[in-house]
Amino acid sequence: MNLTKNFLDDAQAIEDQVIALRRRIHSNPELAFQERDTARLVSEELKRIGIRVQSHVGRTGVVGILEGEITGRVVALRADMDALPVKEPPGLEFASRKHGVMHACGHDGHVAMLLGAAMILAKHRAHLQGTVKFLFQPAEEAAEIGGGARRMIEDGVLKKPKVDYIFGLHIFTNFPSRRFAVREGPLMAASGTFRIHIVGRGGHGSAPHQTIDPVYVAAQVISALQGIRSRMLDPVEPSVVSVCSVHSGTRNNIIPDDAVLEGTMRTLDEATRKRVASLIPKIAKSICATYGAKCEIEVEDAYPVTLNDPLVTRSVIEILRSIPGSKTVVVPPLLIAEDFAFFLKEVPGTYYFLGTRNSEKGCIYPNHSSKFKIDEDILKYGSASLATLAFNFTSRARSAA
Ligand SMILES: [Zn+2]
Ligand SMILES: [Zn+2]
Repeated sequence: MNLTKNFLDDAQAIEDQVIALRRRIHSNPELAFQERDTARLVSEELKRIGIRVQSHVGRTGVVGILEGEITGRVVALRADMDALPVKEPPGLEFASRKHGVMHACGHDGHVAMLLGAAMILAKHRAHLQGTVKFLFQPAEEAAEIGGGARRMIEDGVLKKPKVDYIFGLHIFTNFPSRRFAVREGPLMAASGTFRIHIVGRGGHGSAPHQTIDPVYVAAQVISALQGIRSRMLDPVEPSVVSVCSVHSGTRNNIIPDDAVLEGTMRTLDEATRKRVASLIPKIAKSICATYGAKCEIEVEDAYPVTLNDPLVTRSVIEILRSIPGSKTVVVPPLLIAEDFAFFLKEVPGTYYFLGTRNSEKGCIYPNHSSKFKIDEDILKYGSASLATLAFNFTSRARSAA
């Protein structure tokens, strides 16, 4: 029996349901840790198809557990549920009904695709050799408050039964529709944030020598931080240090008292992350000291590197390649970050992308843009891929990777 083909056929058969679910979720977006209506909808759908449900896992998260007729391995599939503080322009009949909140990262599609995979696997329960846990995770977009993955892990989502493999995917405009993009090893970056408060001494713009000008010092710090990437790290080792927010001053002839810089850092390995995290304060402090300014610095970790297990991912690539009508490509790493990384620190697995770029349908705007739009034709490929991975990995021998 060619299950891969059957699963795409199965996904095709429920396509209308999955699209309808995606649209319902899109019209009612909820921010991190506020995903109550979405969680309710997920629970109802899971119960409707005969899947056992656990609620309030990681605050607003939901877990569905499907036990096959035959015992085997435990596979977790994850979808994130949260929306973004983005104002959706009018136009879609199922546009956001919540002012200033939008599913601008495709998580509405993730939830719908995972529900689709649950429907497919529930239908094939008699042949399922193991257990599938469906993880509907809150707050992926909320790195500053820890993110939902960590909360779910703290609540024991990877135990009872213990998860052997985990898979998740992200809809992404960078790749054309129906294209899976993946790689072995690091796929996405470790991220961290920093905040530098430079305290000088204000005065008249005509007499800088009587002041300690925090604006000038801030400019030096911004320039010098770029030296980390260009002069202090191996140039073939990917990394980014970006100052993305600068706040100081009130008008053209007043030198202010202080300046605040905020930014992000990205690396693809732990040692480089530590190095960057230690260089930022060192550089900022020494420049501030040169000009007599005081300097308060906070550097914080956000998400670790998203590290795909090489052996598992090799099989994943093969399985994805067998899904008709899709294409699977191996891509270089990206310096975006994802809290799926926390799951991959605990359990071997793979995170992959599903392209949604389709210029004929206007699906060309990047994730997080207010014009972000998904090509709904891809949802069936997402559902089929998740179901196929779960089905294959539940039946793996204990000795296999
Ligand atoms: Zn996002
Ligand atoms: Zn996202």
